[in-house]
Parts: sequence; structure tokens; C-alpha cells
Amino acid sequence: MKLSNRLTNVTGGGSDGWDVFNRARRMINSGTPVTELTIGEHDIRTHPDILAAMDAAARSGHTGYAEVPGTARLRATVAQRISERTGVPTTPDNILITPGGQAGLFAAHHAVCDQGDTALYIDPYYATYPGTIRALGLTAKPIVTSPDTGFQPTKSAIEAAADGAKSLLINSPNNPTGIIYSRDVLTGIAEVCKAHDLWLISDEVYDTQVWDGAHISPRSLPGMSERTLVVGSMSKSHAMTGSRVGWVCAPKEVISHLITLAIHTTYGVPGYIQDAATFALHQGEPMEETVAAPFRRRRELTMQALAGQNVVRAVPAQGAMYVMLDIRATGMGGEDFANALLDAEHIAVMPGESFGRGAVGHVRVAMTIDDDRYLGALHKLINFAKARAKAE
Ligand code: PMP
Repeated sequence: MKLSNRLTNVTGGGSDGWDVFNRARRMINSGTPVTELTIGEHDIRTHPDILAAMDAAARSGHTGYAEVPGTARLRATVAQRISERTGVPTTPDNILITPGGQAGLFAAHHAVCDQGDTALYIDPYYATYPGTIRALGLTAKPIVTSPDTGFQPTKSAIEAAADGAKSLLINSPNNPTGIIYSRDVLTGIAEVCKAHDLWLISDEVYDTQVWDGAHISPRSLPGMSERTLVVGSMSKSHAMTGSRVGWVCAPKEVISHLITLAIHTTYGVPGYIQDAATFALHQGEPMEETVAAPFRRRRELTMQALAGQNVVRAVPAQGAMYVMLDIRATGMGGEDFANALLDAEHIAVMPGESFGRGAVGHVRVAMTIDDDRYLGALHKLINFAKARAKAE
């Protein structure tokens, strides 16, 4: 029986950049210990107080169908958080609760693009972006940034790609580079969106993980709230990756449009999960800081470990739970380097190439194991790179 082309086209059927990750998993399953620095999963679990709120909600009966756009309490809580943090007046009608940010990214594109439309995204990108766009029958068009501009997208590059496009997807703080877009960059993006009538889809799932500079939501820039869809999530901010709860914040008409999608796909998010998310958000910044602190600390440790040599250079990580390392001085590509590192040292990192053309010659390291093991692995990586550079 023939399967649908649209789903086959999500990955293009070829290598999806996860070869190193999959190989590391196979090694672990066959009993070889591997230091896993590939994916963005915290080394702490969801806070027990959040789990207690989840348990209490479930036991008090919130286990039936929940309101499809999200519970009134969670929508109001998210709206208030966004109003307070961005200064943009936001009401529950601007919020749709989704099963995680990933579903939010899919929904956001679904809301504003039609089959055959062109959707822009910035390269290097979070691994699912092109597939999410293609899953909707859209043309995914990357705007490639360069390490030479610190992976910040330039206004001229976006301008050059904008003609005929429907939407632009950005992500700051960024996965995989760890950079944060400056106000100037965001202002340039906003100007292009207005001039070319583009919808802006702003993935802000790392908004609580800021080490340097400030996170600015582009929805708060002049004339942008009516054309911006913000994707948020509890996954990274509250170590709730497995709970699958996030949101889209957008103009009311967009949210009404998306409720139709939610009714016909997810039919909402479990009520007890939403109650736990509501509880977690009411704990405010102290709880978010507890979750962010290990990454802030390890990012500092990374900078110290890299000092005094120039074979491995870090793209200055301003936020998120990753560092992108430039290993071009070894003469190797990211993929070869990551494979060789896995074989020689049993350390798994993601090749930059998994995230697009912009990150060739880089590897992404997730700072997601305890400090001592993390530092040990980093030193081994640096020594491995130095030996390769010498052999060059
Ligand atoms: N956007 C980015 C940039 C991410 O890194 C991730 C997860 N790694 C997501 C969205 C999706 O996260 P979730 O679905 O868990 O909210």
C-alpha cells in the first residue's frame, strides 16, 4: 500500500543528522558507557511540588476532557506572565494551550500558511524546523547565517529571501547556537516582516535561560503584536519535557482559527497537566532560576575550560542549554569529528551539520550532565581536538 508523500517528505527520506545520536544509543544499549551530550534534556527531573500539584489535580477529578483551548486558569496565567514580562497587553483570548512547543510550532505555521506557501527559517536551526514546515505541504526556505556574524541573521539576508514568502520562524535564545538576538537584529527582522507582510513565528521556549544580555520578545516591537505568533513551553523553563505542555500567543483571530485545529487534532491537553503548569508558573522566577542555574554555571565552566587554547573556540553562548563549539582548526567537519570522538572517547555530541549549513565545522554540546562529568568530558574533547589539529 502506498503511504503519503507528505509525511515521507518530512525528512526527505535521507540522513536526518541523528546518526551520531543513534549510534551512541546503540552503544549504550549494548553495554558500552557513553557520555551523552546530545539532546536538550535536563539532568534534574520535574520539581516534586509541581508533581504534587499534578497528583492533587488528578485525584480531585481533573482527568476528563479539559477545555480544548486550555483551561481558563492556565490561559489567564500565561497571558498575565506575558503581559508582565513583555509589556504587551495580553488576554486569555490571545493564548492557546498546546501539547508542548513542538505542537505549537506546527499549529503556528498551520494558522498562517497554506499548502504551497514558502515559510522561512534561520539556519542553523532546531532540528525539527524544516520537517515541521514540510509536514504542512509548505516550502521550507532557510536563511543561512554564518559564524563570522556570530550566527545573528542580517537584515539584508532576510530581505533577500522575503519576496513571496508567507512567514519567518526565528528562535532566540537559540538552539543550537546559544545566541540571543540583539534589539537591532530584532528591529531589522520586524522591519522586513512589515515591509513584506510576513507573519513572524517567534520560538521563545528558552526565554528563562539567559546568561548574557536580555531576551526581547519581538511581539513587543512597534506594529508587531498583530503579526507575531509566539511559541512558548514549560519543557525547558520548568524541566517538564515529558508533560507536553506549551502555548501559542497570537492575535485573537489567530487563536480562534487554531481552536478549530485543536478540536480536530489534539482535543486539548490533560487537565491535571495544565493544573500543574498553572501551579508552576505561579511560583514565578525563583523556580525558573533553580532550573536554569546548572546551565548558567556550566556555561561559565565551559568558558574557563576553553581559555588558553584556540583549537576549540566557543560561539559565545548567551542563553539556552547548549554551547556550539567551532572545531574547524582540526581540519575536520562536525560530523567526522563527532563520529571520531564517539569512537575514541565514548563522548556523544551533535555535529553542527545536523542543524543546517551554517554550523558546518562545529559541534553542539548539551550541558546536561553533572558539573564534574561535564568538565571531564569537555577536557577530553579539547585534548582530542588538539591532537587532531597537530596531526593536520
Ligand atoms: N523549540 C526549540 C528551539 C527546542 O529546542 C525545542 C525542544 N528541544 C522545542 C521547540 C520543542 O520543545 P517542547 O515540544 O518540548 O516544548
